[in-house]
Amino acid sequence: MASNAHRVVVVGGGFGGLTAVKALARVDADVTLVDRHNYHLFQPLSYQVATGALSPGDIAMPLRHIFRRQQRVTVLMGDVVGFELDEHQVVLRADVPGGVLRLRYDTLVVAGGSDYAYFGHDEWRQVALEVKSLDSAIEVRGRILHAFEVAELNPDDQHSWLTFVVVGAGPTGVEMAGQIAELAEDTLHGEFRRVDPRSRRVLLVETGDKVLGAFPDPLPQRAARSLERLGVTLMLGHTVVDVQEAAVELREPDGTASRIDARTVIWAAGVEASPQARMLAEAGGAEIDRSGRLTVEPGLSLPGHGEVLALGDMVSVTDSRTGEAVILPGLAPVAMQQGRYAGRVIAARIAGRDAPKPFHYHDKGTLATIGRARGVASIRGLRFSGFPAWAIWLVVHIFYLIGFENRVVVLFRWAYSYLTRGRGSRLITAAAALPSPGESDS
Ligand SMILES: Cc1cc2nc3c(=O)[nH]c(=O)nc-3n(C[C@H](O)[C@H](O)[C@H](O)COP(=O)(O)OP(=O)(O)OC[C@H]3O[C@@H](n4cnc5c(N)ncnc54)[C@H](O)[C@@H]3O)c2cc1C
Repeated sequence: MASNAHRVVVVGGGFGGLTAVKALARVDADVTLVDRHNYHLFQPLSYQVATGALSPGDIAMPLRHIFRRQQRVTVLMGDVVGFELDEHQVVLRADVPGGVLRLRYDTLVVAGGSDYAYFGHDEWRQVALEVKSLDSAIEVRGRILHAFEVAELNPDDQHSWLTFVVVGAGPTGVEMAGQIAELAEDTLHGEFRRVDPRSRRVLLVETGDKVLGAFPDPLPQRAARSLERLGVTLMLGHTVVDVQEAAVELREPDGTASRIDARTVIWAAGVEASPQARMLAEAGGAEIDRSGRLTVEPGLSLPGHGEVLALGDMVSVTDSRTGEAVILPGLAPVAMQQGRYAGRVIAARIAGRDAPKPFHYHDKGTLATIGRARGVASIRGLRFSGFPAWAIWLVVHIFYLIGFENRVVVLFRWAYSYLTRGRGSRLITAAAALPSPGESDS
């Protein structure tokens, strides 16, 4: 049905895009939300899918379901492959005749997120999986569990199968390392007969000199102690120089080379902006930084294109006072606050009001967990560690998880695993992609 209403196209149903669409609920606009997936993923918990603590459906929710009551929101599944800024069109690759769909907009909001960067070694991507996408988290789960299965089948060759290397000691790397250590220690222990899962080695490799480098002291030191208590070996000052199917090569702090035989490598090192940042920059003559982030104006618009807003992990924002591009932390609250701000900009535009003041990020703090009932938190200058930090983390994550059902289910699963040390989702479903010992030896 044709309409003269303002047309808003939002690209990306992650934290930024989802919040922007919600912020438009009472605005006189027809909104089209485009994502390559049919669900919103709560990325902060994807590592728990990768370690069998939660099921994929616990942390993802169909976008169509989220917006079922927002009648003026249309959800389309497709991959954005281009922006035609002069024609005010977004180009999608989608399941339509010809394979391409063009969507016209009056205002465009782009929130395409980020991807893990492999420091120019894209060939490592196949071996060292990340846990950013749901598919990849499920595959990581399969690889971790498969490694224990192969060790049980080949007790004389268990060493490399029971060695797990996590690259990058930011929150995701710390959480992954802690969870793998606990999976073996608490959950798998006692279920194997020919190997002892507790003999696993979990190595956390980090180029910097501390874990959780973005957290204030003394939280990195406390996190390091908690990890060591869990049996994680910290390899600080070590840089990964090569990743192979059965080994990782490192440069040690003194510059010498070393090699670790390991069948399972998990990548949690640096991120780069979504390719959409570059596409927008090229289409609009804007700048991107070394990590591929698009520099947007203080009001989040693409320079020279007030009708295009970009936000979340894929942007840095020009400070209205200094004129410098500011890189905000790659966190969900940043993307959500920017999504809400984009909603206010669009509402003001449609109502003919002045634009809101430039975007300002309100830092509410950072949190990370280190296994069961341990964590660190830095909130408004206050620092917490151990159980209190973990409890805060738990409440915040339950609060922000999308969907009442998911909140109840996740709370129930966490209570169950807290009491029993069990994990409810330990199925190997991506086994076809896994190498067998014979194949990878060759
Ligand atoms: C493992 C992990 C753990 C994290 N833990 C925390 C945490 O504890 N706390 C915290 O605050 N933050 C955490 N983060 C960071 C947080 O998830 C991000 O900062 C946040 O998701 C950024 O939101 P966004 O909207 O910019 O991008 P995203 O949430 O990544 O959303 C991007 C969306 O765009 C879609 N998309 C991408 N490209 C296309 C395309 N070409 N066509 C169509 N759709 C496309 C994607 O499918 C996705 O839905 C974590 C991130 C990861 C990966």
